[in-house]
Amino acid sequence: MIQNVGNQLRRGFASMFSGRTSRKSISHPESGGASAMAEDEEYRNPTEVQMSQLVLPCHTNHRGELSVGQLLKWIDTTACLSAERHAGCPCVTASMDDIYFDHTISVGQVVNIKAKVNRAFNSSMEGKLKQVTPLTEEEKTEHGVAAERRRMRLVYADTIKDLLSHCAIQDDLDNKDCSNMVPAEKTRVESVELVLPPHANHQGNTFGGQIMAWMENVATIAASRLCHAHPTLKAIEMFHFRGPSQVGDRLVLKAIVNNAFKHSMEVGVCVEAYRQEAEKQRRHINSAFMTFVVLDKDDQPQKLPWIRPQPGEGERRYREASARRKIRLDRKYLVVSCKQLEVALSVPWDPSNQVYLSYYNVSSLKTLMAKDNWVLSMETGEVRLYTLEEEFLSIHLEMVVQVDAAQVFQLLSDLRRRPEWDKHYRSVELVQQVDEDDAIYHVISPALGANAKPQDFVILASRRKPCDNGDPYVIALRSVTLPTHHETPEYQRGETLCSGFCLWREGDQLTKVSYYNQATPGFLNYVTTNVAGLSSEFYNTFKSCESFLLDNRNDLAPSLQTL
Ligand code: ADP
Repeated sequence: MIQNVGNQLRRGFASMFSGRTSRKSISHPESGGASAMAEDEEYRNPTEVQMSQLVLPCHTNHRGELSVGQLLKWIDTTACLSAERHAGCPCVTASMDDIYFDHTISVGQVVNIKAKVNRAFNSSMEGKLKQVTPLTEEEKTEHGVAAERRRMRLVYADTIKDLLSHCAIQDDLDNKDCSNMVPAEKTRVESVELVLPPHANHQGNTFGGQIMAWMENVATIAASRLCHAHPTLKAIEMFHFRGPSQVGDRLVLKAIVNNAFKHSMEVGVCVEAYRQEAEKQRRHINSAFMTFVVLDKDDQPQKLPWIRPQPGEGERRYREASARRKIRLDRKYLVVSCKQLEVALSVPWDPSNQVYLSYYNVSSLKTLMAKDNWVLSMETGEVRLYTLEEEFLSIHLEMVVQVDAAQVFQLLSDLRRRPEWDKHYRSVELVQQVDEDDAIYHVISPALGANAKPQDFVILASRRKPCDNGDPYVIALRSVTLPTHHETPEYQRGETLCSGFCLWREGDQLTKVSYYNQATPGFLNYVTTNVAGLSSEFYNTFKSCESFLLDNRNDLAPSLQTL
């Protein structure tokens, strides 16, 4: 969640209420949170705020389960208090990442909500806000990944636009059974709320959680008009508040079903504000998209009627809802395939999932970097080699070079130059320049043994410049699959799950270069049969990287050459 501080500054906030964490934070009164408390006694993040609520009948919906609107209000309040603890002044919610609701919570259960500030981003020139210094492994990971989440929020609208323009979403209206079609108009809902003091903070700004609760309410009514049953909210798409609202505002909430798929539907809600009846112009406060299902007695999703959109705006929203659904499904697949190593290590590259792939690429590397159990295994000259033994062996090499960080970044992020210093890269072809920061390469490596075939890799390279001072440059590499580059008999297809570089500016013309590689099962074979040679192998490659950087330290950066 992002909180706004005053009008000037934005700050990063953990989406600690993702499915994973919320599951962890729900307990029965008798089971309490005793073990969690014991852990917390050791170290507590100074911005951490906890809230515990006993779910009472007044908090529940028709099924006797905690209503999502109530949950959102509690989450928002906890997040806001944590943000204020960091900022030292009143904060309001600016945006929220996607939320998935996997589990229901019943009367009598206790909801424990924990909020902490992951990272502060300054959106203006004023650096009022103190930076967050991450200390623990978890905080370091969250701090690093917060920047990626922010980037994803910024490019989300472009992704939808791209998807609509590049991949034709088949207008499937013609193929559907018209007898089972509901005109979208029938689901339209409009409702008004007057913002009163209990809905706002002491400065009179309406709580974001309260607005979200009202939005959930109208969206549920719109959804119920399609299916004539009680719908269950499964997910809320990320959104941001466009402007503030205050006590005395009238909020007009409008909702309609944008599209219905076999077992789920998307409802869109839009909130506008006005203060006086005479006011012509209404202020746009917020828009959100919510996914609902209808569950039968066995909690199985029921089949839903199709929707017939209104021509014009309705058809546009119908198509956009399909695009959002595709992105959601791709992302789900991606999360699953990233977690299950027994499934292919490479994930298919697709225009609709490219944002998430590059997000996972960078965040996997940042997660590996943040680990606190790296062990220094070797120190030769200026090079240090660390290892990390978890499920797989990971390797981290580090050295300081007398070359400017921005130049090192340019030189190492173009994989086509890697054969100049790394003999494991025989040749490299740029397959696709996705955008300024992401590119896909086809890499050919020499054979590992006398009778083995040479290897080839299809690699996504995602590079990131620092967000603020103290942030490193990052170049993350991982395998993907491309329909144009299938495995061929000529090469043995190799895969890399997570590797790359992290560059820290240590001074003018001084950069700490870190290389990371998480060993995949294939790579592990190689490592275990070559333990003795491993250190010197890496050392030699890294030294050759240093010479390459020094030799090219005065090259004009490609971005400057084009000027
Ligand atoms: P968009 O039209 O691009 O989806 P808006 O912010 O205008 O973005 O609206 C968000 C959603 O709110 C829409 O997708 C729609 O579902 C719902 N909505 C907007 N206007 C109305 C309205 N007049 N009546 C009912 N629902 C509306």
